[in-house]
Amino acid sequence: MQNIYEQFLSSAQALQGKTLFERPGRPDLSYAQIRNLVERLAAVLTDLGVTPGDRVAAQVPKSPEAIALYLATLHRGAIFLPLNTAYTSAEIDYFIDDAAPRLFICAPDMLSQHESRRCRELAIETLGADGDGSIMARSANVIPCEAPHPCQPQDRAAILYTSGTTGRSKGAVLTHRNLASNCEALIDCWRFTADDRLIHALPIFHTHGLFVAANMAICSGATMVFLTGFDADDVIDLMARGTVLMGVPTFYTRLLKSPRLDCENTAAMRLFVSGSAPLLAEDHRAFTNRTGHAILERYGLTETCMIASNPYDGERIAGAVGMPLPGIDLRIADPDTGDLLAQGDIGLIEVAGPNVFEGYWNMPEKTAAEFRPDGYFITGDLGLIDEAGYLQIVGRSKDLVLSGGYNVYPKEIETLIDDVPGVQESAVIGVPHADFGEAVVAVIVPQQGAGLTEAGVLSAIAPKLARYKQPKHIILIDELPRNVMGKVQKAELRSRYGDLAK
Ligand code: ATP
Repeated sequence: MQNIYEQFLSSAQALQGKTLFERPGRPDLSYAQIRNLVERLAAVLTDLGVTPGDRVAAQVPKSPEAIALYLATLHRGAIFLPLNTAYTSAEIDYFIDDAAPRLFICAPDMLSQHESRRCRELAIETLGADGDGSIMARSANVIPCEAPHPCQPQDRAAILYTSGTTGRSKGAVLTHRNLASNCEALIDCWRFTADDRLIHALPIFHTHGLFVAANMAICSGATMVFLTGFDADDVIDLMARGTVLMGVPTFYTRLLKSPRLDCENTAAMRLFVSGSAPLLAEDHRAFTNRTGHAILERYGLTETCMIASNPYDGERIAGAVGMPLPGIDLRIADPDTGDLLAQGDIGLIEVAGPNVFEGYWNMPEKTAAEFRPDGYFITGDLGLIDEAGYLQIVGRSKDLVLSGGYNVYPKEIETLIDDVPGVQESAVIGVPHADFGEAVVAVIVPQQGAGLTEAGVLSAIAPKLARYKQPKHIILIDELPRNVMGKVQKAELRSRYGDLAK
């Protein structure tokens, strides 16, 4: 596969009236209808002055029309730049200044906040959750533009800003080759076909919802049951007629809370995928016990699309993210020297292949710093390859705790804490400490009514941990701070509890 738009076009030509989008309580939309809309939106983009290589930034609610806008941008050879719907106007300033888009599309009710940005270089249009808005009104009165701009594999297709979990968001520039090669590898590995019915409840401004879920469905001619958000009951209802669910770990935690999650209600499904953040091993096991399905966990980054996946046919191991996808080279390197490490040793996960992005937009130095001279991208995640050849992630290098001169891997302590009866989940962080440099702090969410105490947790884990790894403080809270993709916000925890050990 060379190009997502071309692949969509061949799906649309072959499938015509087949449903692409199914939405509860709303009319279905076929491949042919979406193709027509894409070609009309492509004409609108041209009318608005968008030329190949221009950025089209969109902060719009999830809708089939928003996916059509993405495809229309690819059709024009322009660069799609989706933005998190939670970003405030001040945050949008940063992205617009940084990416200098030709066109910015926002929700109709946000127009008043953005109107003042309109100028000769920047057109502003709107697109709403119901397929309303000014760009849709314009699309009603144009002649569809059928011929797509011919793009080369190395041409830029999208800029996706990273979640900003570890600092200021960086714009990852992704090429047509990046998106198409990854989509093809995933379709192959996860046996995606036109018979699939994907339950799509993810946001579409992130890699997972757009470049994994939506791209795979569109390119394999499948149907998407397109939901604006995740509701455990709704999703369980839809499983009777679905085949695949792609979710972040919090989807699975929430599904497990429903007594309706059982073998019967999941019998029609063939695959449950989890990614974007670590899935609790306990949730993985509980899900298998309740449904008979082993969740398939995979690993990826904005900069690289998907890197590794548990096998479709072989064993899907809780706490591991599997093997590299076809065509992707993965290695574990010493964080200080860059030397390759032996199997079982923890080091930086580095990756090379057609999935690896071109670089960070406007950040040549940052880009150069994150690639090795031989072209491998340094993910910033720490991991190891276990005896069975599966990749295990032990955390992000920025979350590593340096206590008394020793490295402490938060995952090791989190895994022990999570095994203590009465613990729901935990996050281990390092906070400044006068003697040790950093002290280990464990933030724990107890199960309801478990009567957990700080001293009880400490006495359960202390015998299994060297002294420098033992938490100096244990904090019990109701909920860990997470972003919309379910990532625990450790930076937020560090700022909340930073003064504890001073
Ligand atoms: P920033 O780079 O701005 O800090 P971010 O890294 O959160 O933001 P993303 O690209 O959305 O932005 O997230 C990629 C990260 O998500 C990976 O580096 C990894 O730490 C984590 N991740 C993704 N999938 C998994 C998984 N299955 N298990 C553990 N971690 C995962």
